[in-house]
Amino acid sequence: MHESQIRSVTYCAKENGLQIRVRSGGHDYEGLSYTSEVPFLSLDFFNLRQISVDVENKTAWVQAGSTIGEQYYRIAEKSQTLGFPAGVCPTVGVGGHFSGGGYGALLRKYGLAADNIIDARMVDVNGRLLNRNSMGEDLFWAIRGGGASFGVILAWKIQLVDLPEKVTLFTINKTLDQNETNIVHRWQYVAHKFDKDLYISILIRRVNSSQDGERTIQASFTPLFLGGVDTLLPLMQRSFPELGLQREDCTEMSWIESILYWAGFPIESRDVLLNRTQPNVRYFKAKSDYVQIPISKNGLEGIWKLFFEDEAEEAQMLLVPYGGRMHEISEFEIPFPHRAVNLYKIQHLVFWDEEEIEASQNYINWIRKLYSYMTPYISRFPRAAYINYRDLDIGVNDKGVNDKGNTSYAKASIWGIKYFKNNFNRLVQREKEKQIVTCEWWRKWVVGWTGGKWGGRRECIITHLRMLASSSSPHPTA
Ligand SMILES: Cc1cc2nc3c(=O)[nH]c(=O)nc-3n(C[C@H](O)[C@H](O)[C@H](O)COP(=O)(O)OP(=O)(O)OC[C@H]3O[C@@H](n4cnc5c(N)ncnc54)[C@H](O)[C@@H]3O)c2cc1C
Repeated sequence: MHESQIRSVTYCAKENGLQIRVRSGGHDYEGLSYTSEVPFLSLDFFNLRQISVDVENKTAWVQAGSTIGEQYYRIAEKSQTLGFPAGVCPTVGVGGHFSGGGYGALLRKYGLAADNIIDARMVDVNGRLLNRNSMGEDLFWAIRGGGASFGVILAWKIQLVDLPEKVTLFTINKTLDQNETNIVHRWQYVAHKFDKDLYISILIRRVNSSQDGERTIQASFTPLFLGGVDTLLPLMQRSFPELGLQREDCTEMSWIESILYWAGFPIESRDVLLNRTQPNVRYFKAKSDYVQIPISKNGLEGIWKLFFEDEAEEAQMLLVPYGGRMHEISEFEIPFPHRAVNLYKIQHLVFWDEEEIEASQNYINWIRKLYSYMTPYISRFPRAAYINYRDLDIGVNDKGVNDKGNTSYAKASIWGIKYFKNNFNRLVQREKEKQIVTCEWWRKWVVGWTGGKWGGRRECIITHLRMLASSSSPHPTA
């Protein structure tokens, strides 16, 4: 596929009343880039992966089919001290990832990927090829975090960011008998206030204790520090002594090596960043939450209790600290609204391997129970969620087969306000303007961003969704 063909493809789809599904890295949590109950046309971007890096101006043009791993690799080919604040998993595609925000370990220093987009090439609902200048600031605002469906993104122009020659990493694990609850509790008070150069996330899961083989809950503290160990140690001593960080826990490396470390690869194996195949393919269901007031120790202990249940053997909770640049950017700057009021974000995850629907249902029920348990501890009015962790449980559009999918504003608000808060109304306005021109087709097109796609199939999609092994197959195994 070539960029020039996309205009005719969109025109053709419109003429024939076909919906379009656009796929970049194929990592959508609910499989919305490649599933539908009605006939659709699939635009798969896996061949559109050109990346041109301009070191002098610290910018790059990245075609929408590129993965973030390919993007990091190409930047590092040209410079060891330039990078980009996007996600952790190298196989995620920039088409969907940047459209929903896109965060990684640089978010406290530089914000999201979408905060650092300075231009884009896209094809709109009428088959017009647009750039920032011709699309206007309103549409340019919408495509940076508004959830991927104001048109087909062909390429992003990104602002690269400055990085030191050395960054420092460590992993410290704490289990229940190692004061875990108190340390996680304390982290909630300090992690958003750390120096911007320091990011420490926590991964919670159940493990077998090394001492007696009994099951316990483990918190893994994983950082990115933009500097050397000599600067990090006194900083940690001042701001988070409870973790007990020692020099021997730390490793200095280049930023591109830290990308490999975070992704779980040997830091020498840089070429794996060019591999679009997701190594661990499993069934999973995820949800997200934002925390604005620290969770009490009792509250944390209640979470640990749920993690001892059978279905939680492969469950995880990822706590991502905010603060720094995330608190400086206004919640209206781009459609992604989750900024200053949040201490941290949670991603709830449960994985499983069993094929049977019943087994899947058990795991999905478990994560819904956890989500329900969390209700008193997380953001309210709305209970906010991250669009890139798409979750059809929080609301879907009307089914499109018989009623043409004409979802009301009230119904769309159920999920829209959670993902976009007050920016949802501006996104809707943006769509209304477009609707004047192409009412019928817009309604079909818009399904992609009005979230849920086809409510009737949702259990099926959730249950059968695998993290995609590759986006090169037009019909991934479900
Ligand atoms: C293993 C894994 C790790 C992840 N890690 C992170 C992380 O560290 N940080 C983070 O923020 N998120 C992370 N995510 C979530 C990820 O950002 C989203 O799932 C994102 O939408 C994936 O983008 P994609 O292009 O790979 O997916 P796709 O399934 O290809 O697309 C996702 C959505 O974007 C639309 N879309 C794709 N390409 C285009 C295009 N060119 N034009 C218009 N619309 C398009 C699709 O139609 C779909 O609606 C992770 C997901 C997975 C599965």
